Amino acid sequence: MTRSVTLPITGGCQCGALRYQIFEPPLMIYACHCANCQRIAGSAFGLAAGIKESSLEFTSGEPARVTWSSDAGNERYGSFCGDCGCRIAHGQTPSIGILSLRAGTFDDASWVVPAGHIWTRSAQPWFKFSDDDIQWDEQPTDYGPIIQKFKASVTFEE
Ligand SMILES: [Zn+2]
Ligand SMILES: [Zn+2]
Repeated sequence: MTRSVTLPITGGCQCGALRYQIFEPPLMIYACHCANCQRIAGSAFGLAAGIKESSLEFTSGEPARVTWSSDAGNERYGSFCGDCGCRIAHGQTPSIGILSLRAGTFDDASWVVPAGHIWTRSAQPWFKFSDDDIQWDEQPTDYGPIIQKFKASVTFEE
């Protein structure tokens, strides 16, 4: 089934001080089961929307920033609400032009379904993958199949 989503996508932090809009369709949405995402999300995995850095605009509040080294060894930073601590998006230094935005912060996340699963080697043992799930043990070397599957499942309207 194809889902239909109207742009811009709006979202924000838990307390509402930090608000954002995304003006272009996300490239993909996937679940990341790496140890960092599990800790950041306080959950079994992170639900990430890969978006163009230029497509994100903060419409209310100024994001605070934290930095760390990813499981793949990249220098990463996170934008979060300084008031409630809610993490919104992750980027890389130097920039690769792409942000990974926490899809659970969308105002309407009802259409969000991960098109792939990455870092499955650290997935919680109780998590059940479907046979047709795209899975990568660690960091994907090619996001193409995840992007294709995502594109086939969602349409975006202005
Ligand atoms: Zn907040
Ligand atoms: Zn991760």
